[in-house]
Amino acid sequence: MVKSSDLWPLSAKTNEIHGGGLVTDKFVRPRLVRVVAEPLGTYENGAKIFSGEKKAHAYSRISNETVENLEKRMCILEGSNAALAAASGMAAIDVLYRFLTKCGDHIISSPKVYGGVDNLFRVIKPRDGVEVSFVKDPHDVNEWERLIRPNTKAFHIENPSNPLIDVFDIRPLAQLAHSAGRDIQVVVDHTLATHVLYQPFLWGADWIGQSITKYIGDGEEVAGIIHGKDQKIIDQMRMMPFRNTGACLSPDNAHILLYHIESISSRMKEHCRNAELMAEFLSKSPLVDKVYYPTLGPLAPLNRQIMRKGFGGMLSFDLKGDESNVGRFMDHLKLFDHAANIGEARSLVIGPWLETHGCMEPNDRLAAGIHPTTVRLALGREEFADLREDLLRNGFSKVKVKKSQRP
Ligand code: PLP
Repeated sequence: MVKSSDLWPLSAKTNEIHGGGLVTDKFVRPRLVRVVAEPLGTYENGAKIFSGEKKAHAYSRISNETVENLEKRMCILEGSNAALAAASGMAAIDVLYRFLTKCGDHIISSPKVYGGVDNLFRVIKPRDGVEVSFVKDPHDVNEWERLIRPNTKAFHIENPSNPLIDVFDIRPLAQLAHSAGRDIQVVVDHTLATHVLYQPFLWGADWIGQSITKYIGDGEEVAGIIHGKDQKIIDQMRMMPFRNTGACLSPDNAHILLYHIESISSRMKEHCRNAELMAEFLSKSPLVDKVYYPTLGPLAPLNRQIMRKGFGGMLSFDLKGDESNVGRFMDHLKLFDHAANIGEARSLVIGPWLETHGCMEPNDRLAAGIHPTTVRLALGREEFADLREDLLRNGFSKVKVKKSQRP
């Protein structure tokens, strides 16, 4: 039997179908192992498995063969050494921080993070005795440095960020975190890029904690993953806290994800193309105040160096006029579904101010660059001309602006 890992270095696209060793080398297609418990053999053997001394699947809350296949494939694609799949992106990020921090520790975060992560940091972590500070301008490495304390354990950054698609060069941040006498872990959430568009370990990250619900799941299931550099440390994390906090991914969801991964590179190209075209179109609209997409503005050349293959399918923009325009615009669209996901075949629309980021305090939303007039689009894979037509005929035609703001 030839293992895919024993062949020449396969390209990412081929690894999406063959990567991860055991999956495609044993069977033509990955199997679904829908079981809770596996036989433990002798009492001595069972004791070794439960203590972590011996690796084997015992109980699916801890590990499962199908979920392991997903972890192996994602490791190859991400360029990590070890991975731990979880029930959702939030479960993955929560488990990672339960592992990296304890009561009395400190985290520094970018303010440009998904609303759920913001809530984890501002409300849940402080209840566990972990303090979280937020930099004002996440591009300014001096700010991160000023906030470092002796008990700082991690820097958290989303690249690109949800919903404004801010792209970060994490290299100076990693340099700071790893400079003499410091042992700060750089955690990157690149949910909106996936391994296809950005690989955090190449830029100095120590950990990935992300959702794979989005582009990878293709609208079918909720899931998350943690990637690390050391298998032994991921094994420790699996035994504590993962094993006893119940954050496990179901084998059924892992199985579906294994199939969706096979088409991710091709799908990402279509999402990126539609978003780039939409950003260009919106930037010329007289009813739009500002468009947030990395191909626009003075940072565009640097952004293109960091994410050479594109920036994904999400973009945001501020409508002119007051906040009542957001509902008027979204509620009349016909092709865009009003729904809280990203990375599906169909295009979606949502208002971050009251929906995805509504759990944040108003000042924190403003600090993250989100306004009451912000609209978020998650471009799908339809023909761009039809999407543009929907905005023109059904969305923009309902937007009301004062005489002074009219084109
Ligand atoms: N991280 C980012 C950047 C997200 O956009 C989201 C959800 O939208 C999450 C994490 C949480 O992912 P999940 O919904 O899979 O828990």
